[in-house]
Amino acid sequence: MSPLKRIYHADAYDTDTPVGSYWEAVTPSPLVDPVLEGDFQTDVVVIGAGFTGLSSALHLAKDHGFAPIVLDAGHVGWGASGRNAGFNCMGGGKLSNAAYLKRWGEVDLSTYYAAQVRATEVVDELLQDNEIDVDRQPKGEWLLAHRRKDFDGFAEDAAFLNRVAGVKSEVIGSEALRESDVNGAGAHGAMFSDVGFCLNPRKYVFGLADAVRKAGGRIFGNSLVEHIERLPDGRFGVRTGKGRVVADRLILAGNGYNSENLPDWMGGRYTPVVSHIMVTERMGDNVLADQGWRVNQMSCDTRKMLHYFRLLPDGRMLFGMRGTPNLGPQDKARMPNAVRGDFDAMFPAWAGVRTAYHWSGLICVARNLVPYVGPIGEWNGAFTALAFHGNGVSMGSYSGKILAGMVADKKYDEPLSDGMKATPERYPIAQARRWALPLAFKWYGWQDR
Ligand SMILES: Cc1cc2nc3c(=O)[nH]c(=O)nc-3n(C[C@H](O)[C@H](O)[C@H](O)COP(=O)(O)OP(=O)(O)OC[C@H]3O[C@@H](n4cnc5c(N)ncnc54)[C@H](O)[C@@H]3O)c2cc1C
Repeated sequence: MSPLKRIYHADAYDTDTPVGSYWEAVTPSPLVDPVLEGDFQTDVVVIGAGFTGLSSALHLAKDHGFAPIVLDAGHVGWGASGRNAGFNCMGGGKLSNAAYLKRWGEVDLSTYYAAQVRATEVVDELLQDNEIDVDRQPKGEWLLAHRRKDFDGFAEDAAFLNRVAGVKSEVIGSEALRESDVNGAGAHGAMFSDVGFCLNPRKYVFGLADAVRKAGGRIFGNSLVEHIERLPDGRFGVRTGKGRVVADRLILAGNGYNSENLPDWMGGRYTPVVSHIMVTERMGDNVLADQGWRVNQMSCDTRKMLHYFRLLPDGRMLFGMRGTPNLGPQDKARMPNAVRGDFDAMFPAWAGVRTAYHWSGLICVARNLVPYVGPIGEWNGAFTALAFHGNGVSMGSYSGKILAGMVADKKYDEPLSDGMKATPERYPIAQARRWALPLAFKWYGWQDR
C-alpha cells in the first residue's frame, strides 16, 4: 500500500484505468516511458510530468544545461495536463482584483496581469520553438454574462484589463450577440478578449515530453514517488517502489495530485477540486446551426461555479464545470447527468445531441486564491509551483520556466508578482477541506443567482 496521504478517493489516483477522455480517443499515447528501476544520480529531479514539470525540465535542459530526470506516477500528461479543456488563457488565480489590490497594491497587480499575458505567450513560444502541433484554434476568449448585472460591469472590466495588461477587449450587448455566431448559453452580453487560444492538451503535453527527451532529459513513467529525504550532504533522495534518484536539486510539480506528506511541508497548503468535462457526439453543420453557436474560441460564463466550453475542430461541443466533493464511484455515477443538465440549460437546441465522452480530474486551489511559485519551505534547492485554480495550461507552463530559472540560480526574466511568491498558508482546519467543499459550492451557487 502507498505510504502517501491523499485526500480523495483512491480512484482519483488510479493510474491504471484510462480516464475515458475525448483526448485519449483522438490522441493515443505515442510511447510508454520506462519505469524507474535501480539507483540514479542527477543534477535535478522533477516530480510530475504535466505542463509544469515538463516545462521546467525543458527549460532546465535547453536554457541552463541541466540533465533532468522526470518521474510520474502514471504516464506523461496522466494528471490534469492530459485531460483538460485546452484553454491557453489568462488566469491562474481566483482572488478578486479588489482583494489582490488591498493586499499587494496596484503595481503588483499589474505585474500579476503581465505574468498572465506572458504565460499565454510562453505556451506559444514553446509550441513554435519545439514544433509542436496542437490543432490550435482561433485567438481570443469569450466571457458570457450569465446575469444582467455582470454585463453592466463589462465596460469597466474591459477598460481595467486594457490599463493593467494592455489587453484589447470588445463588449457586445445581448441583441448583437443573438445576431452573431455566439448564440446560446442564455447570455446577457459578452466580452471578447484578444488573448490566448484553444489547443489539444494531450498533443501539447506529449510534444513537451518529446522536446525534453530530445534535449537530454529522461522521463520515467509508472514511478510513484513515495518518499523524499534530505541527505546529510544536502542532496535529495527520491524513492519510488523500484528505484531511487539522488539529485542536487528538486522540483515538485504535482499540483492537484500532490500528497499531504510529500513532503510534510505540503500538508494542508492546497485543496484539490474536481473538474468535469463532457464532449458531445460530432454535430453536422445543420445541427450546429440549430443553436447558432459557431465560434471555436475559448468561452466561459461569469458564474463562480464556472461553466467553460468550446467547439472542437471536428464539430463536437466540449462543456465543463465543477461540482463533486470527491471522485469515488458514486460521484462518477452522478456527475454525467448533472453536467448534461447544465449543458442542456445553456444550449437547449442541442438537447437531442448525444454525450459521447465524460471524464474528470483534479485542479488545485490555494487558501489565498493565488498561484504559488517558489521554494519548498526551508529546503534549500527544492522548489514547487501549484494552485493554478483551473488555469494551468498557461500558468503551469509559465511557472515551469520560472522554476527552471530558480533551480539554476539565474534570473528568470519573466514577471513574477509578490502575490505569486507568497508562501501558501495552511488551511485552518486542513482535515475538513474536502468536507467543506459542498458548502463552498452551495455558497458560490447562491452568489451566482
Ligand atoms: C477537467 C479539467 C479541465 C481543465 N481545463 C483547463 C483549461 O481549459 N485551461 C487551463 O489552463 N487549465 C485547465 N485545467 C487545469 C490544468 O489542467 C492544470 O492546472 C494543469 O494541467 C496543471 O499542470 P501540472 O503539470 O501542474 O499538474 P498535473 O498535470 O496535474 O500533473 C501532476 C502530475 O504529477 C504526478 N504526481 C503527483 N504526485 C506524484 C508522485 N508522488 N510521484 C510521481 N508523480 C506524481 C501526477 O501523476 C500528475 O501526472 C483543467 C483541469 C481539469 C481537471
